[in-house]
Amino acid sequence: MHAVGIVAAAGSGLRLGADLPKALVPLAGRPLVCWAVDTLRAGGVPTIVVAVPAAERAAFAAVLGPEVVLVDGGATRTASVRAALAAAGGGADVVLVHDAARPLTPPDVVARVLDALAAGADAVVPVLPVADTVVVVDDHDVVTDAVPRAPLRRVQTPQGFDRATLAAAYAGLADDAELTDDAAVVRAAGVAVVTVPGDERAAKVTVAHDLALAELQVRA
Ligand code: C5P
Repeated sequence: MHAVGIVAAAGSGLRLGADLPKALVPLAGRPLVCWAVDTLRAGGVPTIVVAVPAAERAAFAAVLGPEVVLVDGGATRTASVRAALAAAGGGADVVLVHDAARPLTPPDVVARVLDALAAGADAVVPVLPVADTVVVVDDHDVVTDAVPRAPLRRVQTPQGFDRATLAAAYAGLADDAELTDDAAVVRAAGVAVVTVPGDERAAKVTVAHDLALAELQVRA
């Protein structure tokens, strides 16, 4: 089974308050995108395409070296992954799509996703249960309902797909469609998405507090 990895790294980092693209923000001295690429490699995915902000290609090439393929990302995550998928070519059997913003994802998670694909799944996502009570509020922020949390899951990356299935789902998606992850893209095409256990260490770095936690995690 030939696997290709895609790293979505074309986000801006606005919510992190950084003056450089989020994927270039250092964690323990190394850009987030380098950690994400390392996770895929360590988990058994040697060929990797990274979607980067078009204006920052040189900076990404400098930190990632010649072993990865760089493509210009788009205005949304959906557009960035679409561009990377086109560059990944038709040679791979499966594709794993990972967020650069999840630098400390253990390679075990990659291995679990690959195992589920090898067992025949067309789409696989790593998930975790929801520990907090989840409620619905109205326009005035008053609670109107509580959602039973037992069937809820938090979805992480890397998400794994049969390559042809993912390519067909993206091809059937409107040009300006904006979905928050790739499982949503294949679900829109009617594909069943199976789950494997995620890992708390695969948390997404979004705000400065997340980066501080990740620094602690590296030191531990
Ligand atoms: O914005 P958010 O944190 O949801 O982004 C998730 C991942 O998608 C990040 O790794 C980010 O770099 C990537 N992204 C992208 N292209 C965009 C927006 C986000 O590759 N236009």
